[in-house]
Amino acid sequence: MAERIVVLGGGTGGTLTANRLRRALPDAHITVVDQDDRHVYQPGLLFVPFGLTHPEDIVRPRGRQLHRGIDYRECPIDHVDLATDTVVLADGSSLQYDVVVVATGSVLLPEETEGLTGPGWMEKVFTFYSLEGAAALEASLTRFERGRLVVNVVDMPIKCPVAPLEFCFLADWYLRERGVRDAVELTYVTPLDGAFTKPVASARLAGLLAAKGVELVTEFNTGEVDGGAGRLIGYDGREVPFDLAVVVPLHGGAEFVGRSPGLGDELNFVPADEHTLQARAKANVFVIGDASNLPVSKAGSVTHFEGEVLVENVKRFLGAEPLDASYDGHANCFIETGFNKALLIDFNYDTEPLPGHFPAQVGLPLLKESRLNHLGKLMFQWFYWHSLLPGRDIPGIGAEMPAAGKETGAAQNH
Ligand SMILES: Cc1cc2nc3c(=O)[nH]c(=O)nc-3n(C[C@H](O)[C@H](O)[C@H](O)COP(=O)(O)OP(=O)(O)OC[C@H]3O[C@@H](n4cnc5c(N)ncnc54)[C@H](O)[C@@H]3O)c2cc1C
Repeated sequence: MAERIVVLGGGTGGTLTANRLRRALPDAHITVVDQDDRHVYQPGLLFVPFGLTHPEDIVRPRGRQLHRGIDYRECPIDHVDLATDTVVLADGSSLQYDVVVVATGSVLLPEETEGLTGPGWMEKVFTFYSLEGAAALEASLTRFERGRLVVNVVDMPIKCPVAPLEFCFLADWYLRERGVRDAVELTYVTPLDGAFTKPVASARLAGLLAAKGVELVTEFNTGEVDGGAGRLIGYDGREVPFDLAVVVPLHGGAEFVGRSPGLGDELNFVPADEHTLQARAKANVFVIGDASNLPVSKAGSVTHFEGEVLVENVKRFLGAEPLDASYDGHANCFIETGFNKALLIDFNYDTEPLPGHFPAQVGLPLLKESRLNHLGKLMFQWFYWHSLLPGRDIPGIGAEMPAAGKETGAAQNH
């Protein structure tokens, strides 16, 4: 009998996994389940508020991204019964599996922060982390000419931890282009003790914020957003006033994980082996992308690199072979800095983002603003639809982090 593989989620990870599995296991029966038919190219959300792209340019139908021979079911997942290897859908139907891949990403939980969705929500308090939020923010930003613009991360983990910093850099550019930058105070409010998590990159990014006149408020744990009075209130009593707030809400795993006994942790993320991506819950469960609780960035690049190892391991599991433990935590991210420039960072579990070049001594500059990196960021959307999702390898960008080109001495100098 053909092996039955069910992929939960038809976003970045689910789509690329199903497409790679289709090639790797031609006889398997593969089903992808998602709750809607709107695949959003999420890195594009950053550009929507500045009018640099539009919602209709970053959304495509989900089913059309899947290769022929993959079944697509559009229905919310209700829960997974690990004991009977069954996925139960919201319409009451169920799917039996030999292997299940959890690729249901993370969800935004704005209602978890007091006041965030209260008065002022979508009027002077926005998020660009959803399509609707990004579009509504665009309409508000075009009218914003003076006052205090605050960008706030409520808590980690969040998707693409550099995206709120990119928002600050682009806001600085956008307000300058419109000739109103001098009338706007721009502030970045983060729960971290610096601009970013890793020391070398954090120092470089804090330097860039300062150079662009963006005030940095650190170790601020947002307890309440008072949209009426226009202030963020920290658990320690500190307040940050705003006229316009751009908030990245708390993230959690998909809700159905909480209804699936034994599958997830207290935030509904799925614990898994850091190197094989096999879930701790049961041997025939694998996890990819934002849905996992691995100590990696919640990023499309991570999801892409994980995909190669995950597909190999599903194949090995079904063939009763030892798993491949080669996923090294590789992450790679362009950081848009405005004025047609961007930085690039590349790192893994053991190596923090360092200066140098990617992927070798000649290549894109790391941790340094350049036009080449900006073009790389823009071109990535094409690669996403035509190479990453179809499950093709992108030349020069492999799952394993390249060490050549990195200035390892830089870590000691900071
Ligand atoms: C503003 C922004 C900017 C970003 N920029 C970058 C960037 O520059 N570089 C980068 O690498 N990454 C970036 N990312 C992150 C990247 O988009 C995600 O990490 C990536 O999409 C994760 O893939 P995933 O498959 O884990 O989750 P997703 O692609 O989010 O897919 C999860 C899927 O599961 C489905 N699902 C969830 N629950 C259920 C349910 N109960 N039933 C049925 N279906 C369900 C959802 O509908 C969704 O389709 C950005 C993200 C944001 C928000």
